[in-house]
Amino acid sequence: MKVLFATSELYPLIKTGGLADVSQGLSAALARAGAQVTLILPGYGAVLSKLGQPEQRYPLQDDYLRTDVGLARYRCPQSGLPLLLVECPALYERDGGPYATATAEPWPDNAERFAQFCRAVVCVLAGRAEGLASGYEVVHCNDWQTGLIPGLVRQAGLPQTTLFTIHNLAYQGIFDHATFQQLQLPPEWWHIEALEFFGRFSFMKAGIVFSHRVTTVSPTYAEEILHEPLGCGMAGLLQHHAPKLSGILNGADYSVWNPADDPCIRFHYDADRLPEKLNNKLDLQRQLGLRLTKTTPLIGMVGRLEQQKGVDWLLAAMEALQGEAVQWVILGSGRPEFEQQLQQLARRNPKTMAVIIGYDETLAHRIEAGSDLFAMPSRFEPCGLNQIYSLRYGTLPVVRHTGGLADTVNDASDSALAAGTATGFVFSEPTAEALTRTLRRAISRYAEPGLWRQMQLTAMAQRFDWERSAHDYLTTYQQE
Ligand code: ADP
Repeated sequence: MKVLFATSELYPLIKTGGLADVSQGLSAALARAGAQVTLILPGYGAVLSKLGQPEQRYPLQDDYLRTDVGLARYRCPQSGLPLLLVECPALYERDGGPYATATAEPWPDNAERFAQFCRAVVCVLAGRAEGLASGYEVVHCNDWQTGLIPGLVRQAGLPQTTLFTIHNLAYQGIFDHATFQQLQLPPEWWHIEALEFFGRFSFMKAGIVFSHRVTTVSPTYAEEILHEPLGCGMAGLLQHHAPKLSGILNGADYSVWNPADDPCIRFHYDADRLPEKLNNKLDLQRQLGLRLTKTTPLIGMVGRLEQQKGVDWLLAAMEALQGEAVQWVILGSGRPEFEQQLQQLARRNPKTMAVIIGYDETLAHRIEAGSDLFAMPSRFEPCGLNQIYSLRYGTLPVVRHTGGLADTVNDASDSALAAGTATGFVFSEPTAEALTRTLRRAISRYAEPGLWRQMQLTAMAQRFDWERSAHDYLTTYQQE
């Protein structure tokens, strides 16, 4: 089966979150399962600077494409799969992130940037990239940045099956009517059964309406988005399209996230060498200036510092546990007030709290390896990858019962502990108090070394391989 995988992020070339890891891990697993996969990505400056010369260039023929848009073929660094870059220096080669400036302002021309990307993808599917055979049977689209592809495929009468994956319904690519006109989209798409969304229009809605199949990244999130508030205004629309919606749990790339051979950590370990984990803890404490102690529980957190991730609850829990025997390491960036409040707390507690604002892949691995607990108190979580990585590192996750967190972490209830199936600590109530109570519960369990070790071993034995997800996607591609 020949698949074109369209995405706006790809590890290790460009990453703001889980989508980059998914694009890498899933595409490689699809290829191992026998699919012929090509990835297609905007040619961001940051990506080009990592790739060198292309293997080939192809002119694109499309009346709706800017004349400065081109296509070039490279190879994915990690998997070696073919990688097409839609190149346009004026749109994609800028300092800053893929969606926003260095100061977190969305690029003002995001609609055009991703509409042009979508049109270029459809040009490839239609065989209008000169010298490049199409023959694709499936186009797999990811999040709003690719949302126009299914509609354009349908409008052009192309034969491909279109699958649209929602990685986070909260980001919908919403723009105004003037932008709709500038993009020269078919006028009949300005309709509530097409793109129109409360007086504006949404790329995400376009993907949902026009694709053959819609997936999201965990079974629980696929249920949750059928209702508000997690439907983000689209619950009714999704209910209407429910027959084509399903949830496929993400996997983890254990060639990147494995404490037995992780190049980012100093002391490698697995189930047979678990005591080495403590050396990583000391190493992390030393690096961050925390008090050196093997016995005080260390709680890690890596991620976007946004309301979604429950950072306000985390701050309240950190305040509530101040002065108790617990240490914290937080790595992330996001809302300025969260960044500032976290930094203030850390300044007041330099030996027990370390807060690093920024993006640091190596440190993220070191936090996974060095922490005892990993906090993910998300209000909602489509899948979440960090809790899956934490399990592998024997770092027990503390999570809210939502989305993929609910699908991957088993609470340490009395019955789960007795059955030897507990892998973490789960709470449901969406409050700071519930998080604080659950952290206290985890900390008291930490004082029982035999029980803790058993939980770590159970957690480390869990497998969320991309193979299983790839199998489910291949099945879904065929259910047109
Ligand atoms: P989301 O996609 O909602 O941001 P996920 O848990 O699905 O959250 O994926 C987040 C990914 O991004 C993980 O691989 C995580 O380690 C990484 N990540 C997030 N923030 C940072 C950061 N500040 N530094 C390093 N890695 C980060």
